[in-house]
Amino acid sequence: MSGADPHFGRVALIGLGLIGSSLGHAMKRGGLAGHVAGYARSEATRKRALEIGFVDSVHGSAAEAVKDADLVILCTPVGSLGAITAEIEPHLKKGAILTDVGSVKLAVIRDMGPHVPEGVHFIPGHPIAGTEESGPDSGFPELFDGRWCILTPVPGTDEAAIERLSAFWTACGSKVDVMEPKHHDLVLAIVSHLPHIIAYNIVGTASDLETVTQSEVIKYSASGFRDFTRLAASDPTMWRDVCLNNKEPILEMLARFSEDLTALQRAIRWGDGDKLFDLFTRTRAIRRSIVDAGQDIAAPNFGRTPKKPGGEQGQ
Ligand code: NAP
Repeated sequence: MSGADPHFGRVALIGLGLIGSSLGHAMKRGGLAGHVAGYARSEATRKRALEIGFVDSVHGSAAEAVKDADLVILCTPVGSLGAITAEIEPHLKKGAILTDVGSVKLAVIRDMGPHVPEGVHFIPGHPIAGTEESGPDSGFPELFDGRWCILTPVPGTDEAAIERLSAFWTACGSKVDVMEPKHHDLVLAIVSHLPHIIAYNIVGTASDLETVTQSEVIKYSASGFRDFTRLAASDPTMWRDVCLNNKEPILEMLARFSEDLTALQRAIRWGDGDKLFDLFTRTRAIRRSIVDAGQDIAAPNFGRTPKKPGGEQGQ
């Protein structure tokens, strides 16, 4: 995107789970930080992060971790970002870039914005890359390779700071897009939030069935059910926070989804084979476009291995 320097002297990672640890690994791989300081809520996570080595130091509080940092990246659930920003506010260095990786953006700007001190560049972000795994052991350096990262700067943000953060994400392996936060939330409601909600719902329905036993659901899962269970295994805290913080776009997409489902129901009831065939042909083409765009591969099981089960998809 530019010739801006992707390297930062000191980076603070707040939250050391899937995204925080993957960022730590990507920074190590690219030599993007002089020092990576980390903070997570639990002592166990902090200790594990240091053992794995994707951070250089861990700290007892977020306030301590951000001291002297040139880049601060909040990698905790969306619902926690406001309180964390309020806590670190007095400790942020003038001229630092403050960003996040939260899966919704308007609510994050609402919650973090009021706590951003003068002279700190606040640039919300969202890497469209993830898996259903969580915690400090789940990260890997290639998570962001070839995936999009969306930045949603608010009006008046320093252009040089945006370019610097874009250069950083590019060096982590991402392709970068800049978007209005409201548009981001609408797009993500359909490409990410709705599929997860549908997966949670269908897996819940199957587990409530009385005429089909649990063991049958598991035994015959390769017929389709299994692909929903991957999404439905995603972190409950993260997805609770996404649903609570992107209400309107999600409800809008759910309403459209329900209408289309009713139409599909009618086609099945009335034996309208042409309608079913047309829809299934259209949707198959979308799958092909995703593979052509390099956002997945056509290998069996989408090329996922048991070790890194979902590196091919974003959330
Ligand atoms: P994760 O693996 O569950 O890790 C969350 C981390 O945040 C953990 O280190 C946890 O600490 C820490 N944490 C949680 N609440 C905290 C609090 N109140 N104060 C301080 N630390 C706290 O989650 P993740 O998948 O990396 O997701 C992190 C963020 O990335 C979320 O905002 C999510 O929306 C976004 N995101 C996720 C994905 C994805 O696919 N997972 C993709 C793109 C963006 P402990 O370990 O000590 O509990």
